[in-house]
Amino acid sequence: MLMVSSEQETVLISLVISRLSTDHDLVGGAPCLDCGEPLSIHQPDLNAPERLLGTCDACGAWHLIDADRAVTVLLPDADGLRIAAAP
Ligand SMILES: [Zn+2]
Repeated sequence: MLMVSSEQETVLISLVISRLSTDHDLVGGAPCLDCGEPLSIHQPDLNAPERLLGTCDACGAWHLIDADRAVTVLLPDADGLRIAAAP
């Protein structure tokens, strides 16, 4: 079982970001920023309906979508997290 360490650190990582057009239909499939396929949209927090998670069935990429600001951020994959966590 993974445990969260009490030690935290701040790291700087580069993220791919894209602005959605204001008439973009999220349910109709915002595009994956890695491969361009339509994302599957999830709403993990019912109290924050503007904050969505977009997952790509084609390449496995995850995205954080802020619907209010019309912004999509491609989240780091396992390699990106390993590089960010490297000492
Ligand atoms: Zn993809």
